[in-house]
Amino acid sequence: MRVAVVTVGDEILAGEITDTNSRWLCQRLAERGVDVERATTVPDRVADIARVVNEYRAEYDAVVVTGGLGPTHDDLTMKGVAAAVGRQVVEHQGALTWLTQAGSYSADDLAKGTADLPEGARFLKNDAGVAPGAVVESVYVLPGVPDEMKAMFERVSPEFSGERVHVETVVADEPESALVDRLADLQERFNTSVGSYPGETVRLRVRSRDSEEAERAAAWLRERVTLHPDDAAQR
Ligand code: ATP
Repeated sequence: MRVAVVTVGDEILAGEITDTNSRWLCQRLAERGVDVERATTVPDRVADIARVVNEYRAEYDAVVVTGGLGPTHDDLTMKGVAAAVGRQVVEHQGALTWLTQAGSYSADDLAKGTADLPEGARFLKNDAGVAPGAVVESVYVLPGVPDEMKAMFERVSPEFSGERVHVETVVADEPESALVDRLADLQERFNTSVGSYPGETVRLRVRSRDSEEAERAAAWLRERVTLHPDDAAQR
């Protein structure tokens, strides 16, 4: 399963908050074997949300959107997602009932639009807050507040699945440029992909859907690079 993650927020783009939601979602999705192929942040603007969600839903099996729900944003994410799937935003009776019964809000206390979702959407309960989430076609709309987002994602997590990718790490004590030929050789010999992440050492991450193939490739590499003492700790 191939998925895109979209975070909504001027605060993220201004560098005022760190987008920890994307990181968390990418990790959880990867744990479930999902390939996350895009993680994009868009401003608090309906047209931008609609454009990106529309593009990604055409390309990927699902799109997970977080942030920009609730009355303080005039529900711009719901409007953007609704526009992306060509629907209106309408009050969702199930969401309203849940908010007034389980959430014990009186209908008058709720800010206008709190239960507005794209027409025909499945609503998602917010176990840690107020604003409901939604699933419409292949688009999942979650709140921006991290605890609310996490709890709501766990409600739908079984809907995200795939074959898990196994990763082996080799820590090399050589300049990255010196490793190029061996990495090319590795890619020819094994059914794996390899990423190289330089810092004080070069971390080589060998990835494969087949755990034994990843282990074989990493063992082959360990015999051919100068290992850093940190390598043993990564195993
Ligand atoms: P509300 O219902 O209050 O309008 P919301 O669910 O729409 O909230 P936002 O208003 O977008 O969420 O964000 C609320 C707060 O959640 C932000 O001020 C920030 O502290 C946090 N937050 C939002 N998006 C992220 C993110 N991508 N990563 C980390 N924290 C975030």
